[in-house]
This record gives sequence, structure tokens and C-alpha cells, in this order.
Amino acid sequence: MRTLIAGNWKMHGLQARLGEIGAITRSIVAHPSAVDVLVCVPATLITGAVQAAGGVLQIGGEDCSAAEAGPFTGDIDAAMLRDAGATSVILGHSERRQNHHETDAIVAAKVAAAWQHDLATIVCIGETEAQRSKGNALKVCGDQLAASLPDMPPGARTSIAYEPLWAIGTGTMPTREQIAEVLGHVRAALDLRFANAAQPIRILYGGSVKAENARAILATPDVDGVLIGGASLRAEDFDAIVEIARGRSAG
Ligand code: PEP
Repeated sequence: MRTLIAGNWKMHGLQARLGEIGAITRSIVAHPSAVDVLVCVPATLITGAVQAAGGVLQIGGEDCSAAEAGPFTGDIDAAMLRDAGATSVILGHSERRQNHHETDAIVAAKVAAAWQHDLATIVCIGETEAQRSKGNALKVCGDQLAASLPDMPPGARTSIAYEPLWAIGTGTMPTREQIAEVLGHVRAALDLRFANAAQPIRILYGGSVKAENARAILATPDVDGVLIGGASLRAEDFDAIVEIARGRSAG
């Protein structure tokens, strides 16, 4: 399984920030490795990011509509993401679930649309602090996983990102044992549901990943990569995590 290091710029970035994409690209060219590197950017930056990435670094979107072209003002469909040069899309991020009231069913419909357009997907799940403190983390994540994936064979290059809400942008991290417990649960659920087709599905951890903690996270059982918010905005910070992943792949 190749390690995936994925960035999520969220609603950050004007054209001037595309220099960071150029810098990440140059670093990958200078240090070829078996690590897959992806940066998901706001829709306005996809075309410029794809140009700056020169086919070396993968560029993705941060959401797509479940619908196909039609009267949906402000929305962007999966075909449009592909047309702009994106190869991937993040779906079901907790910020969209919370701020845009995206239910598991909506996320599953978006995932189906992305799979149909051959976009690699990162499907996010994760519990709140209150759910964890009540001992419900595994159930919440298991239920979200089950209902956020459509009833069809998984699309190529699918990843599940476990992102506990209380760890996103807070600097607070679960322990490695907590991460391993949820990821083991996710892996078992995927195997049960998709049998052999589950094997290529990568499971990522996301939430306050930085160069300082990436080595330990990437060494945690069942972690196939990481989804990075804040530390993906500057090439220097992001490259440091990619560098750690390179060491892991080489070792
Ligand atoms: C995220 O929003 O996907 C994320 C992991 O953010 P951060 O790394 O900033 O916690």
C-alpha cells in the first residue's frame, strides 16, 4: 500500500499562494519516492494548481455536488472537477457536515458521483468530543462509514480519513492507541463489506498532523497516510511531513 500524504487548504488561498504548489512540486521532483502526494485546494485554484504541479503533484477539490450539470447555483459537479484537472476530491469533511448540514446520505450520493467520474475520493468520518467521552467513538465512526459509502463497488483510489472533530485545528491529538483502535475497526468493516475490493482502500488519520507528530502517526498500525489541514498551507511544513513519509516507504 503506497502512503498517501494529502493536504486540505480549506477556504485559504489566493492565486499568489500557488507558489507553494510550485515549491512542493520541486521538492517531489528532487526526491522521487513511492509516496503519493495530493493537495486539495479551493475550486478557484484548481486550474492554476494543476499547471503549477505539472503532473507531478496530484491536485484535488474539497467537495463536489451529488448532481450532474443543472440548475444548482454555486455548486460544482464531479465532471467539472475532472475538467479543471483535479484527480481527487475530499467528501464528507466535518466542516461540511456541520456547516452545510451534509448527512451521511448526502455524502454517499456525492461519493457515488465522484466514483462515476473516476475521481479518487477521501471520505471523512470522525466523532465529536462528547461522543468519545460517552464511549461511542467506534459506533459513531462505524455508522458514519457504513452510511457514507454508496451501495456499489468502491471506486479506484478510495481513502477513508478518520478525523476526530476535537483534533481538527486544535493541536489536541488522540493517542496512537485511540487512532489504531478506530482504524482497526474501519479496516474490519471495509473488509466485511467489500471483501477483496477493500484491500486497496487506504485509511488515513487527520487532525493536527504536523512534522513533529507525523513520524509517530505514520508508524501507527493501519495508518496508510495522513490528511493535513493547517500544516499543508506552507510548502516547508508540508514537505517536512512528506519527507517523513518517504523515510517510512523506504524503510
Ligand atoms: C482537516 O481539516 O482535514 C485537518 C486535518 O485540519 P488540521 O490538520 O488543521 O487539524
